[in-house]
Amino acid sequence: MSYIQENYRKIKDNLPSNVQLIAVSKTKTNEDILKVYQIGHRVFGESKAQEMVPKYEALPKDIYWHMIGHLQTNKVKYIAPFVRLIHSVDSFKLLKTINKEAKKNNRVIDCLIQMHIAEEESKYGFDIEELNHVLCTPEFGQLDNICIRGLMGMATFTDNIQQIRKEFRSLKTHFDNIHRNFFADQDTFNIVSMGMSDDYFVAIEEGSNMIRVGSSIFGQR
Ligand SMILES: *Cc1c(COP(=O)(O)O)cnc(C)c1O
Repeated sequence: MSYIQENYRKIKDNLPSNVQLIAVSKTKTNEDILKVYQIGHRVFGESKAQEMVPKYEALPKDIYWHMIGHLQTNKVKYIAPFVRLIHSVDSFKLLKTINKEAKKNNRVIDCLIQMHIAEEESKYGFDIEELNHVLCTPEFGQLDNICIRGLMGMATFTDNIQQIRKEFRSLKTHFDNIHRNFFADQDTFNIVSMGMSDDYFVAIEEGSNMIRVGSSIFGQR
């Protein structure tokens, strides 16, 4: 086995069975992606549309591609035919664009709402007041070509585990509240996407069921 395959196995074999692993392959080559594919993995995350599209075209068609990075509305059309889950829905405008492009492709696209949970100003995402407002607008109810599957968040880039834990805990609390208040009758609202290479242990302890891991599998970027 190559070191990438060994890294993958070590992580995958120690995950609780309810936690899905997304292999974050941004900046990595098709050759590296195929190493993980060859030992059975099918779900990969990319953060740029212009990188995801050529990889989709070149690689096996049974790969599920997840968009995890900030997505500009004018790029949605390039990934709408095939993307499996968009983690990074950070505005109502983007959600409406995804709905429109999904409709053109005769699809329903699964989406996660990205929440701003970190202390840093720079991270994208909704705050809870904004999200409550959007979910209450009649226009939201008319988006028939998207399916909101849950929430995604990124913790502050810090060594302070207590702070990271607190931020993940707040995302899980938001998930539970939004679930209860808006999606109580929809069992498809069931994804909490939080945790990366350095913090996924904490994220899982705080209720994550989808982790996005790049450098611990593929090496540093
Ligand atoms: C790059 C990236 C990851 C993976 O980060 P690693 O630290 O390499 O595991 C996860 N989520 C998002 C949104 C990213 O952009």
